[in-house]
Amino acid sequence: MAEQEGAKRGRFMGWYFGVNLLTRILIGLLLGALVGLFLAFNPGAAGPYVAYTKFFGDIFIRLLRMIVVPVIFFSLITGASSITPHQLGRVGLKTLAYYLGTTAVAVFIALILADIFNPGSGLNIAGSAGVQGKSAAQTSLAQVLLNIVPMNPVESLAKGDVLPIIFFALIFGIGLSTLRDSGNADIAKYADGLFHICSTIAEVMYKLVGGIMQYAPIGVFVLISIVFAQQGPKVIGPLVFVTLLCYIGFAAHVCLVYGGILRICGLSFTKFLRGVHEASITAFVTRSSSATLPISMRVSEENLGVSRSITSFSLPIGATVNMDGTSIYLAICACFIANVVGAPLGFEQQATLVVLATLASVGTAGVPGAGAIMMLMVLEAVGLPVTAESPVAAAYAMILGIDALLDMGRTCLNVTGDVAGVVVVGKSEKQLDAGKW
Ligand code: ASP
Repeated sequence: MAEQEGAKRGRFMGWYFGVNLLTRILIGLLLGALVGLFLAFNPGAAGPYVAYTKFFGDIFIRLLRMIVVPVIFFSLITGASSITPHQLGRVGLKTLAYYLGTTAVAVFIALILADIFNPGSGLNIAGSAGVQGKSAAQTSLAQVLLNIVPMNPVESLAKGDVLPIIFFALIFGIGLSTLRDSGNADIAKYADGLFHICSTIAEVMYKLVGGIMQYAPIGVFVLISIVFAQQGPKVIGPLVFVTLLCYIGFAAHVCLVYGGILRICGLSFTKFLRGVHEASITAFVTRSSSATLPISMRVSEENLGVSRSITSFSLPIGATVNMDGTSIYLAICACFIANVVGAPLGFEQQATLVVLATLASVGTAGVPGAGAIMMLMVLEAVGLPVTAESPVAAAYAMILGIDALLDMGRTCLNVTGDVAGVVVVGKSEKQLDAGKW
């Protein structure tokens, strides 16, 4: 009897780890929604269900929170220090300025859409009181900017203050990259060693994220079932709506920003789309900018005629720091979560979001699901921390349940933007084969 039980459990575990993670999260979402809907119509059973299962959702949220600060800190140090000072010549600065500029515009577009369409409003899962977000009126814009500079970085790390952590990690990374280039061979050697240690720790953190994500299907199942049990079917519409809004944002950014800039450069937008489509589709399917890099390089050179020196220099920078899709996702979904918990983001919080989502894109690794981890820090910074048992955690779980769908679109935009960037830089450096256009 015990053996049979053991074999059954073994089969379940084998099935669990054998099935692709995305599929499992989707199954978790759908089953959670079904169980929750069943409970919504049987209110007597909902209370005990929530009391018994909450633990399994809370543990997932705690695991995610545990990993946020080390992930941001080490991936930002690695990102900033992997650009060496001699790369920061004219082309490097132009590339960085283009990438950061277009990302900031992407956040603007996202916020305009979020302000017009208010995704998630009307679905208040926090009850009539709403969640106490950081009141926008209490902090002026100048104060927000001042608060970015930590008085004590260790304190910021311990308290999990996201913006000061980002600031410190970025300047630490820049300092480290200058030392790696030092004329003193010893200093350069140790700095290089430190760089490798930081990038290894960042890798370890992503390994841990991978491990935690193995639990995501169960965490999502529990959290979603509780949301549906308490809210009923009215949750479905807003989730479909926020997905659509993200995709509208992605499409608007491609057409308005890339289309506009290419036109200003005298290049055909349709030719660009035709040339880049292979990389965009690969990104859509793999959900990884890094994995798509070889394809992005090939299409940039072969289809769009960018010189090899520009593609091999600028595209890896793009795949690391340029995430227009991720920043649109962060802005729209942060607004969605804020609305869903009844604490809509005010002007200062949205201004913070522009800076934050742009910088977050520097620290987001080009791997599947990385943006969803960054979302935790964005929410923290706008005063809506994802804590166990909180409505913010439930709203975050709703977004996480559909993350695969959102990740496909945002990665597709990230990569399309990387290639658009090298085309523009290539054109401005007269390193573009006009014959291809
Ligand atoms: N998957 C995205 C990328 O590779 C990052 C993200 O999750 O936003 O570009």
